[in-house]
Amino acid sequence: MIVTAPRRLTGGQLIVASHNPGKVREIGELLATYPLDIVAAGDLGLPEPEETGDSFVANAELKARAAATAAGNPALADDSGFCVAALNGDPGIYSARWAGPGKDFGVAMRKVHEAVEANGSPDRRAWFTCALSIAWPDGHCETVEGYVHGTMAWPPRGSQGFGYDPMFVPDGGDETFGESEPGWKHRVSHRADAFRQLVARCFGNADKSGPHGASGG
Ligand code: IMP
Repeated sequence: MIVTAPRRLTGGQLIVASHNPGKVREIGELLATYPLDIVAAGDLGLPEPEETGDSFVANAELKARAAATAAGNPALADDSGFCVAALNGDPGIYSARWAGPGKDFGVAMRKVHEAVEANGSPDRRAWFTCALSIAWPDGHCETVEGYVHGTMAWPPRGSQGFGYDPMFVPDGGDETFGESEPGWKHRVSHRADAFRQLVARCFGNADKSGPHGASGG
């Protein structure tokens, strides 16, 4: 087996291949200390590819490759979602779709709650998964996957964050991600876990150090 070293990103433009403003904001904050010129795919008028993959990793790679090829620069994509033990990991890669065309996460959270109530399981464990992929215009990808485990809260609490944050309490905390300070979420989230791995893999010593540096803090 031939093992090749991961490809590194040393600076220049990095496209954030997401049209989700919550994600673009969090990714921008997590990368704030790196010498990169961060541009959102939407600001470049790049189209949003259909997420046809059957895993978080497949969808992250598909989105990163589409943006990198279209723009001719490296692109970073995140595919993430909320996974519920009592629902065998659903909504999972379909987390955005559960919110319907109106992208109403009040509706999506209620659907999750009702599905768990309907199946009668007392299991309230849940986790977020985040696959992060950097693609280069030649199609090469470096991809990692991160997690944060916790339990479901009902009713939803707090207005920070986005998506399913108000119904998720991470292990070791008692506030939902909707209630906690963004700094706390950035330290413990699935995205932070994935970022720590991606930084170790692709960013070398590019860290300018600071509150969201290589330690992920
Ligand atoms: P996608 O990765 O664009 O397919 O969308 C993933 C969906 O998962 C988002 O629209 C959110 O509903 C949910 N999600 C992913 N990450 C988070 C998070 O950090 N907090 C809350 N919801 C999230």
